[in-house]
Amino acid sequence: MKRNTHETIKETVQTWVVRIGVEKPSVQFRSMRKKWASISTNGRLTLNKELLNLPYSLVEYVIVHELVHLLVPNHGKLYKAYMSSYIPDWQDRKKQLDALTKIG
Ligand SMILES: [Zn+2]
Repeated sequence: MKRNTHETIKETVQTWVVRIGVEKPSVQFRSMRKKWASISTNGRLTLNKELLNLPYSLVEYVIVHELVHLLVPNHGKLYKAYMSSYIPDWQDRKKQLDALTKIG
């Protein structure tokens, strides 16, 4: 199984920045109690350090979720449409992540 490192996660961010067509955020890792990640509109993506220990598919979901927020700030219809076009099985990944208790 592919192992996550800071580097592989940053590469994943880069790949999806290009695919989605948003500006590349700066990436930082932190311990976060209640969130897997957050993104600010001035271009800072904060990722929970614990993501390093999760399956790659879930890390990818979290990254795409946050990057799509640069296009849509909420979780409405448009957000869901983007998610479905980028990650067709995103709802399954979300369920797996939600089962791990933190809110994405
Ligand atoms: Zn969100």
